[in-house]
Amino acid sequence: MAKDLYYKTEEEIELMRDSSLLVGKVHAEMAKLVEPGVTTKQLDEVAEAFIRDHGAVPSFKGYRGFPYALCVSRNSEVVHGMPSNKPLEEGDIVSIDCGVFKNGFHGDSAYTFAVGKISNDVKQLMKVTYEALYLGIEQAAAGNRVGDISNAIQQHAENHGYGVVRELVGHGVGKKLHEAPEVPNFGKRGRGPKLGEGLVIAIEPMINMGTKNVRQASDGWTIHTADSQPSAHYEHTVVIRKGKAEILSTFEYIEKVLKEKNNDKVLA
Ligand code: MG
Ligand code: MG
Repeated sequence: MAKDLYYKTEEEIELMRDSSLLVGKVHAEMAKLVEPGVTTKQLDEVAEAFIRDHGAVPSFKGYRGFPYALCVSRNSEVVHGMPSNKPLEEGDIVSIDCGVFKNGFHGDSAYTFAVGKISNDVKQLMKVTYEALYLGIEQAAAGNRVGDISNAIQQHAENHGYGVVRELVGHGVGKKLHEAPEVPNFGKRGRGPKLGEGLVIAIEPMINMGTKNVRQASDGWTIHTADSQPSAHYEHTVVIRKGKAEILSTFEYIEKVLKEKNNDKVLA
């Protein structure tokens, strides 16, 4: 096992589960609010208050000077979008990335939400990115290598003609938000660091409808697709186990809210 990788004890994994589940709860609050007309700054304010009310600190706020609790990336924004006063519009997609620091450990998870009704091709991009995340997680078993995760994600995205972002990658997570190893969303099977039990990583495919190329906005943070086509992003914090990874974060709270919202609409 590589020396620079930090393997967590079961006690530490429980603390990381607690942080990661809190991120899932923050996302569920976001799921309730994501609608046409809401501003992403409003989302950020609610998220920060919720995080602090739960005895945690937003991991991103102050990280290398980032001023917000959430990264909120709309449409052609890939990641690291800044919350703003511009209201969400029907047909947008919005990727919300959230990290919390609690009891000495970070949890990190991202989810792409649809704002109202979205086009079928964007729906497909979201679905494939979501599937790519879980295909990556399937490869995150002890004894496999990082490249097995990377390859599974890349293959699935490229089979659908999508672009896989190269410049931004998943990562180890723990006492620091970003630890070794890097977990790229592209790569070759059997390559890269070997995954050992207790290693905790954030797997986070960022998949573009068009070109894989990205550019950074003048705000110094926001990453855009180079061709202005949409991009989706889903992320889980997982712990490497024998046989299969255990997912420490969750989308269950989010999806419960989304289901209820959609049922409401059917009844209305
Ligand atoms: Mg994240
Ligand atoms: Mg991350």
